[in-house]
Amino acid sequence: MVDLIGDGSLSATRLGEAIGRGELKVTDALEACFAKIEEKEKDLGCFITLNKEGAFLQAEKVQHMIDAGRAPSPLAGVPVAVKDNICTKGIRTTCGSKMLADYIPPYDAFVVEQLKNAGCILIGKTNMDEFAMGSATETSFFGSCKNPLDPEYTPGGSSGGSAAAVAAGEAFAAIGSDTGGSVRQPAACCGLYGLKPTYGSVSRRGLIAYASSMDQIGPITRDPEDCAALFSLLSMRDPEDATCHGQMRPSYKQLLSVMGRVKGMRIAILRDPSDGKAAKNALENLSKARQLLSDLGAETEEIKLPEPENAVSAYYTIALAQAASNLARYDGVAYGHRTKEPCSGLKEMIRKSRTEGFGEEVKRRIMLGNFVLSAEHYDAYYRKALQVREGLVKRYEQLFSRYDVILSLTMPALPPKLSESLRDPVSLYRDDSYTCIANLLGLCSMAVPFGSLTEKLPGSLLLTANRFAEEKLFAAAGALAGHTGE
Ligand code: GLN
Repeated sequence: MVDLIGDGSLSATRLGEAIGRGELKVTDALEACFAKIEEKEKDLGCFITLNKEGAFLQAEKVQHMIDAGRAPSPLAGVPVAVKDNICTKGIRTTCGSKMLADYIPPYDAFVVEQLKNAGCILIGKTNMDEFAMGSATETSFFGSCKNPLDPEYTPGGSSGGSAAAVAAGEAFAAIGSDTGGSVRQPAACCGLYGLKPTYGSVSRRGLIAYASSMDQIGPITRDPEDCAALFSLLSMRDPEDATCHGQMRPSYKQLLSVMGRVKGMRIAILRDPSDGKAAKNALENLSKARQLLSDLGAETEEIKLPEPENAVSAYYTIALAQAASNLARYDGVAYGHRTKEPCSGLKEMIRKSRTEGFGEEVKRRIMLGNFVLSAEHYDAYYRKALQVREGLVKRYEQLFSRYDVILSLTMPALPPKLSESLRDPVSLYRDDSYTCIANLLGLCSMAVPFGSLTEKLPGSLLLTANRFAEEKLFAAAGALAGHTGE
């Protein structure tokens, strides 16, 4: 059993069971992760901050509870990595930015409280694109992260460190945030499951905001059972987040019981929007999955979306407008890095602090966000984007009256190669064409590994369902599970 935990294939729930039965100690799992970190981290760059001492202290406490027959949850003792835009009490939380390089939060985010209460062990804070802006984990102030499956490529982003850590065996599961695809895309690039829950089902308290109306925290895991276990743990109602919905969430057991049950399910197959760019293997994976689902009794039908590129434009217009206003708080006074240069007054101090503290991509986005919100351009851009969003709401209402789930690719092409993503930001924005719709409309959506793209890189398919219809995602994910590397 101890051998098994070192090879990076044991799932979090299986590990939790073995720990619960006393076959493994919490420290066995933790030592396995830190051995991998020791071996690989220098090369990969999955973490910004490690929590080794804290993790072993926590492990001791959790082991006592388990030994006393009071295991707090089935995931007790499982080492989990957390994206560095999620606040952790006493552990620095940088958002991948110089702006917050020294920030130590005085409180835990709601999801971190949930993980700790369940006895999960926090092993560290993972690398990410600065302020979660990007799809390749290359805009991080702390350096980029490599894809452990093929180090010529990035792990996708912005939660690339979280996905790479799980794929490399440095953690058993991880938490990321998804504003336009940042849980699902890195999960896809690293052969993992990534869930973007319905907007409002997981509390955002303690998640440092990028675009508040679309940010949502979600799990990145090795199998769908782990994804279900973490989702049911995280998606509790939090009275301290006004956007956290009161709707009942499915339990872990409920999710397990529906997995693979697709008989009679109506599944739309979306080949748009970017067939032109999609790798041949990716489209073959989509056809194979369609066949598999219909063999299992699902009804499948191909659909197209009119003007799909509008979704990406609307997403970026709205996301950047919200980002510009969320990031206005970093002025070197109330929040964030303060310049050490001499300044003639407050304005100059703020300007210099922001110029030094933010990276190039974040600055570009703040400028674009302020531009689309400015009086002269508001109608042409921001209002227009809201109209496009309205149109999409109607279109998807119609779709979900006919279909339970929409199946598409997760990304139109391979993950960006290392250092290439920085060359052409706009082409990177287009890679969000499949994922950003769920954020624009608050839907739930899950990336599922399926087939392969190259000899080393996995394929991934995206399931999207209506708000609070996560059970349907897990039903279909269960049916697609296990078809990797073919
Ligand atoms: N790639 C998208 C962006 O840069 C999504 C990022 C995210 O989901 N945090 O905005």
